[in-house]
Amino acid sequence: MMGEAIAELQDLKADLKRKGVRYALASFVDIHGMCKGKVVPLSHIDQMLQGSELFTGAALDGVPQQISDEEVAAMPDPASATILPWKPEVAWFASDLYLENQPFAACCRGILKRSLRRAAELGFTFNLGIETEFFIFKETNEGGFRPVSDRDTIAKAAYAVPTLLDNYTILDSIVGAMNQLGWGVYSFDHEDAQGQFETDFGYCDALKMADRLTFFRLMVKELARQQGYFASFMPKPYSNQTGSGAHYNMSLADIHTGENLFVSADDPNGCKLSQLGYQFIAGILKHAPAICAVIAPTVNSYKRLVRQGSMSGFTWAPVYICYGSNNRTNMIRIPLAGGRVECRAADISTNLYLGAAMILTAGLEGIREGLDPGAPHRENMYTYSLNEIQAMGIQTLPRTLGEAIEAFAADPLSEEVMGALMYQTYIDFKQQEWQDYHNHVSDWEINRYLKFF
Ligand code: GLU
Ligand code: MG
Repeated sequence: MMGEAIAELQDLKADLKRKGVRYALASFVDIHGMCKGKVVPLSHIDQMLQGSELFTGAALDGVPQQISDEEVAAMPDPASATILPWKPEVAWFASDLYLENQPFAACCRGILKRSLRRAAELGFTFNLGIETEFFIFKETNEGGFRPVSDRDTIAKAAYAVPTLLDNYTILDSIVGAMNQLGWGVYSFDHEDAQGQFETDFGYCDALKMADRLTFFRLMVKELARQQGYFASFMPKPYSNQTGSGAHYNMSLADIHTGENLFVSADDPNGCKLSQLGYQFIAGILKHAPAICAVIAPTVNSYKRLVRQGSMSGFTWAPVYICYGSNNRTNMIRIPLAGGRVECRAADISTNLYLGAAMILTAGLEGIREGLDPGAPHRENMYTYSLNEIQAMGIQTLPRTLGEAIEAFAADPLSEEVMGALMYQTYIDFKQQEWQDYHNHVSDWEINRYLKFF
């Protein structure tokens, strides 16, 4: 370690000690974006920050290793130090995985960092804001689940104030913790499904946002548990209500000045988006099916990407590969304020390291190749029939995880982003997940066919 780095480390350690921290947690993610890690006493943090904590990848989902391989090491990022708001004796660190002193090829955080380096070479910082939708439930005596508030039963639950206030204590603890961490929450509300909420907070560079979303899911689960509830980031727990999106709000900024390069005052479409922004959209649309396999990564994700079946009428989730102005029926929307693009296909089970890497690389391709996404759709895309959509030359998003993985496997973008090892690992893991589901005979089939045939 260089002298300066050692001094910074000592400062960090002293600061954590002053704040009452006793343990440090070296955390990294598996293929699902779930935290894995080891805890060390603060006296051991010097070693931890140099990669002392080792893990056998074969014990985890999508950390491709044989049990006979050398362990991977977690290399924590000192800049990510986060004191757990609900357990302030512990400081969490996001980490990169290393193998034999080299970056591990299938490390999710490393994959995003590589994509961000490519953006940086072109002079761009990738800024990202995530709208976090999720459910808070309580378990029932019958082994099921239901919203915390007994009156959270109305069909159009969006923006409901009484049920928001019924959940005030848990929401206040979540929002209070987010703001304690300096995340800048600017609003929260009851979402469209029963027991569903959304917390909206400031954007930041994509690496920091991926660390934050990873930590957010851990934190919300812990805070809910403390109050006797549980939080769910399953994309679509109810078949007849809307699911949980994780809309990616994206823009590129000048790496030197920080100026938002997606802002334009003279956009001929009137959407206040620059040509760079349109090219970015075109790149995403071009690779949408492959991207979808990563930003909507589960079997259940595809039950959300349907247009109807919600008690409020529509699901608010996209079905077609198209973009529009301030219009929620498109996969990509340009919000009214302009200067950013929102991808609505992503759900809250997203592994943001991998999802952000895929979408950024696709967007950069659109810029490099000067792609044009055509005119924005201003109409309600849900009202078109499939024939009409096809006549307009618009493709449909994958309808199942199986279709999405086929698209992922077939698109050269996937290996470019993930590298050969994670590309194959992702395909193998997700194909197996799809097969497991497909081979299962469900209640729906029994109800429909057992006595019918
Ligand atoms: N919950 C919806 C979804 O699944 C989004 C609702 C909204 O527009 O905020 O994407
Ligand atoms: Mg929402």
